[in-house]
Amino acid sequence: MKGTVVKSTGSSCVVLLDNGDQINATLKGIFRTKGIDSTNPLAVGDKVGLIISEDGDGLIEEIEERKNHIIRKATKLSKRSHIVAANIDCAYLMVTLSKPKTHLLFIDRFLVTAEAYHIPARIIINKTDLYDEKLKKQLAEVIETYESAGYKCFPISALDKKSIDGLSELFANSVNLMAGNSGVGKSTLINALDPNLNIKTNEVSSHHGTGKHTTTFAEMHRLKNGGFIIDTPGLKSFATYDMEKEDLSHRFPEMRKLMGQCQFGNCQHINEPKCAILSALEAGEIAKTRYKNYLDIYNSDKIEGFR
Ligand code: GDP
Ligand code: ZN
Repeated sequence: MKGTVVKSTGSSCVVLLDNGDQINATLKGIFRTKGIDSTNPLAVGDKVGLIISEDGDGLIEEIEERKNHIIRKATKLSKRSHIVAANIDCAYLMVTLSKPKTHLLFIDRFLVTAEAYHIPARIIINKTDLYDEKLKKQLAEVIETYESAGYKCFPISALDKKSIDGLSELFANSVNLMAGNSGVGKSTLINALDPNLNIKTNEVSSHHGTGKHTTTFAEMHRLKNGGFIIDTPGLKSFATYDMEKEDLSHRFPEMRKLMGQCQFGNCQHINEPKCAILSALEAGEIAKTRYKNYLDIYNSDKIEGFR
């Protein structure tokens, strides 16, 4: 029998069978993930082959090869990693310009990480119902910055059904990761897409303007339109281990486009002469904030996606 892991807490998990049933399942034997020293062999989104034991639980005999996966460090100081989710078609980052305000550096770190994993990324800008004239202007700027870099943006209000129609269509029949700081409205959006899911939402505390975490494990929800959303509460320490400083500019699509056009082959686009990227920045073809965040990430001690 085949199925998909929709929730995983280590070696035990919940599997959605291809016939629509959900069962609890455990691993039969020991599995290791090639090349990753991970604390969990099973991740949400894994396609598995299993048998049903006498008590009705599943025994997983096979984990299909992953198309992709994202990992985070198991703990802050650990070298081991935790596989958060696998087989993702698109990663959505939900941000808000107010209540709470998402920093552009956070957005750029997320995008850099998605690029490193070769997972297409899009940005959902929520709570537009709260934006005054000043924030509306900022919204237009943010959209311009990211769309010209190649990331589709969706300004929405999760409270307004009409504004989410376009997203709903995109989610159909695909596996979509939903990330973002707590309190930005992820649960509200998922509930609006499919009210049957009834996910607990997070009141934003009026004091900090940020939400409290309610859950910690990633969970995959099946929408009535056949799509899947992987909810990743508290996904902050996305980690990529294989990223070198020298490769960082390849993770910015608008810079990647200009690769090979700098005078020096090993140009890091900081102060080198005849740098195609510095020229494009000067000409306004690369957004100033994106370039500033390129430098910030470049100069941080370690390039680790976002924290
Ligand atoms: P999560 O932590 O990202 O899952 O955020 P929640 O979905 O729990 O939402 C946090 C708070 O923001 C809740 O009080 C929601 O009602 C509120 N909220 C979510 N989306 C919107 C929106 O589009 N507009 C407004 N005004 N409030 C929203
Ligand atoms: Zn250069």
